[in-house]
Amino acid sequence: MSKLELNSNIHNYEVAFCDSFNFLDDLMNIEKKVFVIDKNVYKLYKELFKNIRKDELFLFDAIEEKKTLKTVEKIYKFLATKDAKRNITLISIGGGITQDVTGFVASTLYRGIKWIFIPTTFLAQADSCIGSKTSLNFETYKNILGGFYPPNKIFIQPDFLDTLSKKDYYSGIGEVIKFALLKESYPKDFNSIVNMVEQVKRKNDRLVTIKKTMQVKKIYIDEDEFDTGKRNLFNYGHCFGHALENSSHYEIPHGIAVIIGMIYANIVALNRSLISKDIYKFLNKKLFLPNIPIKLNIKLFDEKILLESMKNDKKRVGKDLTIVIPTDDDIRAIKVDDLTFTEFSKSYNQLLKILKLK
Ligand code: NAD
Ligand code: ZN
Repeated sequence: MSKLELNSNIHNYEVAFCDSFNFLDDLMNIEKKVFVIDKNVYKLYKELFKNIRKDELFLFDAIEEKKTLKTVEKIYKFLATKDAKRNITLISIGGGITQDVTGFVASTLYRGIKWIFIPTTFLAQADSCIGSKTSLNFETYKNILGGFYPPNKIFIQPDFLDTLSKKDYYSGIGEVIKFALLKESYPKDFNSIVNMVEQVKRKNDRLVTIKKTMQVKKIYIDEDEFDTGKRNLFNYGHCFGHALENSSHYEIPHGIAVIIGMIYANIVALNRSLISKDIYKFLNKKLFLPNIPIKLNIKLFDEKILLESMKNDKKRVGKDLTIVIPTDDDIRAIKVDDLTFTEFSKSYNQLLKILKLK
């Protein structure tokens, strides 16, 4: 079992990379604990979880509509009835939704309890499990409540990914591509990124890819855990991507919306003569378009909702829109706050053409 140590201003933590499920046996030996598990994952892996006691188990529907304070309250209630208080360990198993909900619980109950997280989606294994963020949705606003609180320990077992749906698997690929493009090595070897993605699609080298992705993320969070500067650049693909999640009512999963958001950011950069047409075309052809595995239709791309969502972006600072775009052919990213509504609309129409929706 190999390991990665992470520093945090809250508490340092460790990621263990596992090639079997034996780590679950060790968790069963923790004396005061509860498990919070995504219902789908529980059903799929029932055999693995057969030794968990009923009174130590809380199952929930991991859907965006339930990433709320209400679900958090239900988990508080479950935990509050236990004899163990601050000395209880919360063990959660699932994807990014499970992580966000249980991270919020762990950080607030008794001002912080011990938390072990076992990510089961590609996105959660390669990206969200490190970086300390916990977020909840409030009414129609996504991810506007939350804080920073990393798990004490994370166990990564890539065999969990075998049961993911195609669209959830590719959602993880979207983030993997983003981090590979943001890696600070120049000049960039785009062909090696294409190869890495192709391997992962064939289920090869998943652990290697997860580790590489985490290494890139680690450099950024070591410097800016609380997202006040450099870490903003992770929003490459996310400014338009979040808007698209809204406009598609989450029919387009996060990482796939990010792929489309990166195409959009590159269109803005191309229009501003920041990147060359060659690189722009290469990335679309080799990295972005082949990794959108769902059928898109124009209804998912409502211009009004997209613009409204970009206006509501928490990173916006002035009258124009905020977006992270590449500044050169090495895809060195910067955040700009001067995307005009006219520019937004022009790039939107260009995007529709590229996606063959117009
Ligand atoms: P998810 O938790 O929404 O899970 C996606 C689907 O896969 C669900 O239906 C789930 O039940 C199912 N699933 C989970 N594991 C499975 C498995 N092994 N086999 C089969 N099905 C499985 O998905 P996600 O993409 O991991 O997370 C998206 C969420 O993460 C969003 O709410 C997003 O806002 C959040 N997020 C948080 C951070 C952060 O830093 N905290 C970062 C990125 C995204
Ligand atoms: Zn993301």
